[in-house]
Amino acid sequence: MRVYTHPDCELHTNENSHAEVPERYPAMLAGVEKAKRRGVAVEYGPVEPAPETALAAVHEADYLDSLKEASASGGGHFDPDTAAGKRSWEAGLLASGAAMAAVDGAMGGEASFAVIRPPGHHATRSRAMGFCLVNHAAVAARHAREAGAERVAVLDWDVHHGNGTQDVFYADPDVLYLSAHRGGAFYPGTGYADEVGVGEGEGATVNVPLPARTGEKDYAAVFSGVFAPVLREFRPEAIVVSAGYDAHRRDPLGGMGLETESFGRFAAFLSSLADGIGAAPLALVMEGGYDLDALADSVAATIQGVEGGAAPDWKNSGAKAARDAREALSAHWESLRGA
Ligand SMILES: [Zn+2]
Repeated sequence: MRVYTHPDCELHTNENSHAEVPERYPAMLAGVEKAKRRGVAVEYGPVEPAPETALAAVHEADYLDSLKEASASGGGHFDPDTAAGKRSWEAGLLASGAAMAAVDGAMGGEASFAVIRPPGHHATRSRAMGFCLVNHAAVAARHAREAGAERVAVLDWDVHHGNGTQDVFYADPDVLYLSAHRGGAFYPGTGYADEVGVGEGEGATVNVPLPARTGEKDYAAVFSGVFAPVLREFRPEAIVVSAGYDAHRRDPLGGMGLETESFGRFAAFLSSLADGIGAAPLALVMEGGYDLDALADSVAATIQGVEGGAAPDWKNSGAKAARDAREALSAHWESLRGA
């Protein structure tokens, strides 16, 4: 496993949030070190700031200018949850640079993890929100396309719907976005099963909203009964994982029921799937996760899951959320028709 990270990710500050704090950064790294102590071979790769053109491929120029100016002037406020400090622009460029490096690592044959903050998947083309300024997973997916992958998937297991990533690729048939998240009135209020994409991108957005306190059994039904068939049919050459850890049962924001080891099984399941369909190894990009101990433990479990974890033999248990998603998408995916 290659880990791409930069110490300046700790320098981003968001005075509008008590959850997305700089202390998350050493907690993530502690998770990486824990995996190493358990015998997983982890190699740290070099990270350069992303070129501004890579950010401009997914965000509007005016929006990027406003971010940069906010940082240069000492900070700025974007929404009730989201602010930037004087080092946030720099941290954002490095975080996206790490996500791009993770794609390069993965497409070069090594599973890779961009261990970064702030998170990115709520940032839309033109707007900061939900602790997110720059959408690193979107930058990474676009980079994978430019590096030669004809089809790219972004799989988002953060507890929140990645509305920003969906926004960037909603009309794009070559970037498949799949998300399992807490639905209904939960933040950000998007990600209903009938949001399936538009125009040429119709069918290339796969949303599975889940009720509060959902545990691994129903997530397993979603992975095996929705994500796996769609991924096999789409045949991505690269898979970017928006790896958030706020669906952990100890997370103060998420209200879901996953265990630490659940993330290891997600990682093992997807790694084995990627291998089976001839995709590159996973390129993981950090998103949320706000209980520091759960975050560290779950990062360690993920790395262990990627590196030799046994893929779980999950069956589609017929969870309602998985059934509803299959129905909403069956017109677009042959593999979702029938039982
Ligand atoms: Zn989240």
